Amino acid sequence: MEDKHMLMIPGPTPVPEQVLLEMAKHPIGHRSAAFSKIMAEVTENLQWLFQTKNDVFCLAASGTGAMEAGLINFINAGDKVLVGENGKFGERWAIICDTYGMDVERVKAPWGEALDPAIFKAKLEADTAKEIKAVVITHSETSTGVLNDLETISGYVKAHGALMIVDAVTSLGSCNVPTDAWGLDVVASGSQKGFMLPPGLGFVSVSDKAWAAYEHAKIPRFYLDLKSAQKNLAKNTTPFTPPVNLIFGLKASLAMMKREGLENIFARHKRLTEATRAAVKALGLKTFAPDGNASTAVTAVDPAPLGAEDVRKAIAQQFDISLAGGQDDYKGKIFRIGHLGFVHDRDILTAIAALEATLHGLGHTDFESGAGVKAAATVFQKSAS
Ligand SMILES: *Cc1c(COP(=O)(O)O)cnc(C)c1O
Repeated sequence: MEDKHMLMIPGPTPVPEQVLLEMAKHPIGHRSAAFSKIMAEVTENLQWLFQTKNDVFCLAASGTGAMEAGLINFINAGDKVLVGENGKFGERWAIICDTYGMDVERVKAPWGEALDPAIFKAKLEADTAKEIKAVVITHSETSTGVLNDLETISGYVKAHGALMIVDAVTSLGSCNVPTDAWGLDVVASGSQKGFMLPPGLGFVSVSDKAWAAYEHAKIPRFYLDLKSAQKNLAKNTTPFTPPVNLIFGLKASLAMMKREGLENIFARHKRLTEATRAAVKALGLKTFAPDGNASTAVTAVDPAPLGAEDVRKAIAQQFDISLAGGQDDYKGKIFRIGHLGFVHDRDILTAIAALEATLHGLGHTDFESGAGVKAAATVFQKSAS
């Protein structure tokens, strides 16, 4: 059936109708007073979402563009950086650092496990010469569904004095990311995840401490130079033509988020995560990330002995539901259920019911009929009472 596609991947995520309609409007001039008024509003609301008084910039870039901007404006070639690597996006951070000739030390954990904060603590405490200029990690590792302990790691970084640079692409808008309270110097995100928007915007926040590092940062940059973004934002404008219609959409999505409230947004994502994980387990499948470090954006599932790609193909064919596959070594081994942004309890019930029927169709019948939906519904009932 047409127009019944259900997007359950960790980005791009579904977009609410009121946001789509806002973006369908005719563009306006980006140097107009009307547009500056919108920029002022979205900037204030981004600061609310990031829980910060720092500058927050919108870039016409995907999340990776925001990550790159968040590094090259503050770190020099040859600078020592500790990069947490326990999945595809941690790896991406390390590759960007390598690309610019930074002195990268990878702090690894296996895919599916969280980074160990104690390793960061030990390395930072041993660095009495203060050679480490930044610690760079991914908060919610989308490739595995693992949530890293950003609060603890950033505490160690603060005590040391290095910059804390964070990929919060799938954590912002799905769980608590209190930029100022946790002392996060640079926080990067992207529009197609928790923001309930199509792809195309990157976001990056910058602390005073990071701005001090900017004064000594020599990597050549033009389009991604954040000082020019700062100068322009002081006048509620941007250095280059922004995707005006995406900013219209951002205005609408941030207004929706404000009406829901941060606490409710976090509680909703926690509930969706718990329901999904309970359902997956009730269906006799394994969750890939441990319970204590589960991302609230995405649940990765190991369906062995079934093939993950067979499950994805079958659920797409019969139910028109898109689930994400595994990446790199985990391609074919895991599938991922996205539940961030414009997702509600009903969507999980639907996806789980469809997953159950799909598993049945593939010959996996090792569960009581309705077990998945029952487990998810129980979580929803508990949180409603
Ligand atoms: C989606 C995502 C990104 C950004 O990817 P783009 O394709 O550049 O938008 C970065 N980090 C994480 C954790 C992500 O989930």
